[in-house]
Amino acid sequence: MKAEKKKKIIKTIKINVDKCNGCRACEMICSAFHAAPKYSSNNPARSRIRVIREPLSDIYIPVYAGEYTSSECAGRDKYTIDGKEYDECAFCRASCPSRAEFKEPDSGLPLKCDMCEGEEEPLCVKWCTVDALTIEEREEEEEEAVKMEDVEIGLASMVDKYGLQKIMDTVARMSKKD
Ligand code: SF4
Ligand code: SF4
Repeated sequence: MKAEKKKKIIKTIKINVDKCNGCRACEMICSAFHAAPKYSSNNPARSRIRVIREPLSDIYIPVYAGEYTSSECAGRDKYTIDGKEYDECAFCRASCPSRAEFKEPDSGLPLKCDMCEGEEEPLCVKWCTVDALTIEEREEEEEEAVKMEDVEIGLASMVDKYGLQKIMDTVARMSKKD
Protein backbone atom coordinates (compact mmCIF):
# COMPACT_ATOMS: atom_id res chain seq x y z
CA MET A 1 0.00 0.00 0.00
CA LYS A 2 1.49 3.31 -1.05
CA ALA A 3 1.28 6.25 1.37
CA GLU A 4 -0.89 9.12 0.11
CA LYS A 5 0.87 12.38 -0.69
CA LYS A 6 -0.69 15.55 0.56
CA LYS A 7 0.24 19.17 0.04
CA LYS A 8 1.32 21.41 2.88
CA ILE A 9 2.06 25.12 2.89
CA ILE A 10 5.41 26.20 4.33
CA LYS A 11 5.52 29.80 5.50
CA THR A 12 8.87 31.54 5.85
CA ILE A 13 9.38 34.97 7.35
CA LYS A 14 12.23 36.68 5.54
CA ILE A 15 14.23 39.22 7.51
CA ASN A 16 16.02 42.05 5.77
CA VAL A 17 18.23 43.59 8.45
CA ASP A 18 19.23 46.43 6.11
CA LYS A 19 15.63 47.67 6.14
CA CYS A 20 14.97 47.34 9.89
CA ASN A 21 14.98 50.71 11.69
CA GLY A 22 14.56 49.34 15.21
CA CYS A 23 11.05 50.76 15.75
CA ARG A 24 10.02 47.66 17.74
CA ALA A 25 6.46 47.67 16.40
CA CYS A 26 6.91 43.93 15.78
CA GLU A 27 7.70 43.32 19.47
CA MET A 28 4.72 45.35 20.61
CA ILE A 29 2.12 43.70 18.39
CA CYS A 30 3.46 40.22 19.11
CA SER A 31 3.29 40.71 22.87
CA ALA A 32 -0.19 42.29 22.62
CA PHE A 33 -1.49 39.43 20.44
CA HIS A 34 -0.22 36.87 22.96
CA ALA A 35 -1.44 38.74 26.05
CA ALA A 36 -4.29 37.21 28.05
CA PRO A 37 -6.87 38.44 27.29
CA LYS A 38 -5.69 39.22 23.75
CA TYR A 39 -4.55 42.83 23.22
CA SER A 40 -5.07 43.68 26.92
CA SER A 41 -1.40 44.70 27.38
CA ASN A 42 1.89 44.95 25.58
CA ASN A 43 5.22 44.03 27.08
CA PRO A 44 8.12 43.31 24.72
CA ALA A 45 9.45 40.78 27.25
CA ARG A 46 6.52 38.59 26.20
CA SER A 47 7.24 38.97 22.50
CA ARG A 48 8.31 36.05 20.30
CA ILE A 49 10.48 38.38 18.29
CA ARG A 50 13.20 40.56 19.85
CA VAL A 51 15.11 43.29 18.07
CA ILE A 52 18.79 43.62 18.93
CA ARG A 53 19.43 47.35 18.76
CA GLU A 54 22.64 49.33 18.37
CA PRO A 55 21.33 52.82 17.49
CA LEU A 56 24.78 54.45 17.47
CA SER A 57 25.91 52.05 14.76
CA ASP A 58 22.47 52.00 13.08
CA ILE A 59 22.31 48.23 13.52
CA TYR A 60 18.99 46.54 14.22
CA ILE A 61 18.58 42.78 14.03
CA PRO A 62 15.22 41.04 14.60
CA VAL A 63 15.53 37.53 16.10
CA TYR A 64 12.62 35.09 16.31
CA ALA A 65 12.00 32.74 19.23
CA GLY A 66 12.69 29.18 18.18
CA GLU A 67 12.76 25.84 19.95
CA TYR A 68 13.00 25.32 23.69
CA THR A 69 16.07 23.51 24.95
CA SER A 70 16.41 22.05 28.44
CA SER A 71 20.20 22.26 28.49
CA GLU A 72 22.56 24.96 27.29
CA CYS A 73 24.98 24.09 24.52
CA ALA A 74 28.70 23.64 25.22
CA GLY A 75 29.86 25.81 22.30
CA ARG A 76 29.42 29.55 21.85
CA ASP A 77 29.35 31.98 18.90
CA LYS A 78 30.72 35.49 18.92
CA TYR A 79 29.79 37.92 16.17
CA THR A 80 31.52 41.13 15.10
CA ILE A 81 29.40 43.42 12.93
CA ASP A 82 30.73 46.81 11.81
CA GLY A 83 33.39 46.63 14.53
CA LYS A 84 30.90 45.96 17.32
CA GLU A 85 31.33 42.64 19.09
CA TYR A 86 28.13 40.92 20.20
CA ASP A 87 27.70 38.71 23.26
CA GLU A 88 27.85 34.98 22.94
CA CYS A 89 24.33 33.69 22.39
CA ALA A 90 23.15 37.16 21.21
CA PHE A 91 21.47 35.89 18.03
CA CYS A 92 20.40 32.47 19.27
CA ARG A 93 16.71 31.69 18.78
CA ALA A 94 16.44 29.10 21.55
CA SER A 95 14.67 29.51 24.83
CA CYS A 96 17.48 28.17 27.00
CA PRO A 97 18.24 27.94 30.75
CA SER A 98 21.43 30.01 30.38
CA ARG A 99 19.72 33.30 29.48
CA ALA A 100 16.58 35.35 30.03
CA GLU A 101 15.41 35.81 26.41
CA PHE A 102 12.28 34.15 25.14
CA LYS A 103 10.82 33.31 28.51
CA GLU A 104 7.44 34.41 29.76
CA PRO A 105 8.42 36.94 32.45
CA ASP A 106 5.86 35.84 35.08
CA SER A 107 5.92 32.08 34.72
CA GLY A 108 9.36 31.54 33.16
CA LEU A 109 7.73 29.28 30.55
CA PRO A 110 9.49 29.18 27.15
CA LEU A 111 8.18 31.35 24.31
CA LYS A 112 8.17 30.27 20.68
CA CYS A 113 6.94 31.99 17.54
CA ASP A 114 3.68 30.31 16.46
CA MET A 115 3.27 32.41 13.29
CA CYS A 116 0.27 34.07 14.98
CA GLU A 117 -1.83 30.95 14.82
CA GLY A 118 -5.28 31.69 13.43
CA GLU A 119 -4.28 34.93 11.72
CA GLU A 120 -4.10 35.18 7.95
CA GLU A 121 -0.74 36.93 8.06
CA PRO A 122 1.84 37.04 10.89
CA LEU A 123 1.19 40.29 12.74
CA CYS A 124 4.85 41.31 13.01
CA VAL A 125 5.02 41.17 9.20
CA LYS A 126 1.80 43.19 8.89
CA TRP A 127 3.04 45.86 11.29
CA CYS A 128 6.50 46.21 9.82
CA THR A 129 5.82 49.17 7.57
CA VAL A 130 9.31 49.24 6.03
CA ASP A 131 9.17 45.62 4.80
CA ALA A 132 12.08 44.44 6.89
CA LEU A 133 9.86 41.41 7.54
CA THR A 134 8.10 39.73 4.65
CA ILE A 135 6.34 36.42 4.26
CA GLU A 136 6.99 33.81 1.62
CA GLU A 137 4.79 30.77 1.07
CA ARG A 138 5.59 27.63 -0.84
CA GLU A 139 3.81 24.35 -1.35
CA GLU A 140 5.49 21.04 -0.52
CA GLU A 141 4.32 17.48 -0.83
CA GLU A 142 4.48 15.25 2.21
CA GLU A 143 3.56 11.65 2.75
CA GLU A 144 0.35 11.34 4.68
CA ALA A 145 1.08 9.68 8.01
CA VAL A 146 -0.78 6.41 8.30
CA LYS A 147 -2.82 6.38 11.49
CA MET A 148 -1.74 3.29 13.46
CA GLU A 149 -5.14 3.17 15.18
CA ASP A 150 -6.83 2.78 11.79
CA VAL A 151 -4.35 0.06 10.78
CA GLU A 152 -5.02 -1.88 14.00
CA ILE A 153 -8.77 -1.65 13.61
CA GLY A 154 -8.51 -2.86 10.01
CA LEU A 155 -6.20 -5.74 10.95
CA ALA A 156 -8.41 -6.82 13.84
CA SER A 157 -11.45 -7.04 11.58
CA MET A 158 -9.52 -9.06 8.97
CA VAL A 159 -8.25 -11.43 11.66
CA ASP A 160 -11.85 -11.89 12.84
CA LYS A 161 -12.98 -12.64 9.31
CA TYR A 162 -10.16 -14.81 7.96
CA GLY A 163 -8.22 -15.98 11.02
CA LEU A 164 -4.73 -14.92 12.16
CA GLN A 165 -2.82 -17.66 10.33
CA LYS A 166 -4.28 -16.76 6.95
CA ILE A 167 -3.44 -13.07 7.44
CA MET A 168 0.15 -13.92 8.45
CA ASP A 169 0.57 -16.21 5.44
CA THR A 170 -0.72 -13.47 3.13
CA VAL A 171 1.63 -10.84 4.61
CA ALA A 172 4.58 -13.26 4.29
CA ARG A 173 3.68 -13.93 0.64
CA MET A 174 3.33 -10.21 -0.13
CA SER A 175 6.67 -9.32 1.47
CA LYS A 176 8.41 -11.92 -0.71
CA LYS A 177 7.05 -10.23 -3.86
CA ASP A 178 8.95 -6.98 -2.93
S1 SF4 B 1 8.71 46.41 12.91
FE1 SF4 B 1 10.15 46.08 11.23
S2 SF4 B 1 11.43 47.89 11.24
FE2 SF4 B 1 10.38 47.86 13.21
S3 SF4 B 1 11.84 46.78 14.56
FE3 SF4 B 1 10.44 45.26 13.77
S4 SF4 B 1 11.50 44.42 11.98
FE4 SF4 B 1 12.48 46.35 12.49
S1 SF4 C 1 4.82 35.63 13.60
FE1 SF4 C 1 3.39 36.21 15.25
S2 SF4 C 1 4.08 34.92 16.95
FE2 SF4 C 1 5.77 34.98 15.50
S3 SF4 C 1 7.03 36.69 16.17
FE3 SF4 C 1 5.64 37.48 14.59
S4 SF4 C 1 3.92 38.31 15.75
FE4 SF4 C 1 5.05 36.96 17.14
